[in-house]
Amino acid sequence: MKILVANIGSTSLKWRLFEFSDNVESLLHKGGFERVTDYAGAIEDCLRTLKEGGHIVTEQDLAAVGFKPVVAHGVSGCVRMDESVLAAMEVYNPIAPAHNPPYILGIRLFAERMPKVPLVGLFETSFYQWAAPASIRYGVPESWYEAGVRRWGFHGASHKFIAERSAELLGREDVAERARKLYAEGLKTRVNEPDLRVISCHLGGSSSLSGIRNGVAIGNSLGLSPQSGLPHNNRVGDLDAFAIPFVMRRLKLSLEDVEKQLCQEGGLKGISGVSNDLRDIRAAAERGDARAQLAQEVFVHSARHWIGAFLVELGGLDALVFTAGIGENRPEMRAGICAGLENFGLSLDAEANREVRAREAIVSASDSKVRVMVIPTNEELVVAREVRRLLERS
Ligand code: ADP
Repeated sequence: MKILVANIGSTSLKWRLFEFSDNVESLLHKGGFERVTDYAGAIEDCLRTLKEGGHIVTEQDLAAVGFKPVVAHGVSGCVRMDESVLAAMEVYNPIAPAHNPPYILGIRLFAERMPKVPLVGLFETSFYQWAAPASIRYGVPESWYEAGVRRWGFHGASHKFIAERSAELLGREDVAERARKLYAEGLKTRVNEPDLRVISCHLGGSSSLSGIRNGVAIGNSLGLSPQSGLPHNNRVGDLDAFAIPFVMRRLKLSLEDVEKQLCQEGGLKGISGVSNDLRDIRAAAERGDARAQLAQEVFVHSARHWIGAFLVELGGLDALVFTAGIGENRPEMRAGICAGLENFGLSLDAEANREVRAREAIVSASDSKVRVMVIPTNEELVVAREVRRLLERS
């Protein structure tokens, strides 16, 4: 069974093609295009690449195309991406203006191009369905909550992969197995004591932290929208709600101006005034740019804020895991985030940490009670596995 997982950005199409046979999962191909202007053309080029590589003969060889759509009104989990689901995503376009519209467009183009191939999405909100009610509720009137104003949590596929892989690396195959089967079996599987407590830090263009107990998320730093939590590349992160009416009046901004600035001119770009890429920000900071330095410090501060929140909620910690572009490739950010946590049983091996980039490794000191790990994430594999399960059930 071949499953193509397509990652749709506003100007990019990235994919991975997996093949599943009884107990073997293999990655057949991985590719993508940046700076896409013609999305239908990019899908065509993707299929041509897979055919020329001998991975498929026609698109009918694909059992399904899998996606990781962000958020939809009243829909989560792993579902067929039919028009009713796309319409439910459209309702939440204002919540995810940088993410939902390109996904909806891309999925419609896939449906036109290959009407007979099932299109299946694993929503990024799925991993948080067991979070405690108190952890998802904002202090808003009931009517706002009923309209969907609540903490959702995102990056679910990535944090779920980290839940599985970190448990394996800690020798807790029972927890890894539970995490792998979570969506299929819910919380039914019994887990041996003691609890396994992990904080997963997905730090990239978008960033979020999740607290994970025994393979199940207790929460995520992203709330209602993928613009919340830590400051992102150019999206705002957490902000006091009263800032919006204040700047609308004081700076005479329209609601459209505010939405655009929160989504495109905020986050690391807004603070630094340099770039939305931490590599450029670091280079500027090294040249003495104070705002660039501050942007890095705000990012570290925010990550530590959420580590503190989940550490208390979990009642302790067994592993702190770093993943995604920044988490995997930026030792000095990991060092900043882990600084001064020895009293919590966490100390880095400075030398090991400095050397690790884009590979799996333990970077804590040998006497650190909390293991600090770098684990390259594999969101597409999590999506492909759930798509396979859905196909096998139906
Ligand atoms: P996205 O969330 O868009 O998938 P990434 O996970 O690739 O993006 O994260 C992008 C961020 O990670 C950027 O700020 C970039 O500076 C940083 N990053 C990515 N790769 C590297 C690298 N090889 N070295 C240093 N920083 C990197």
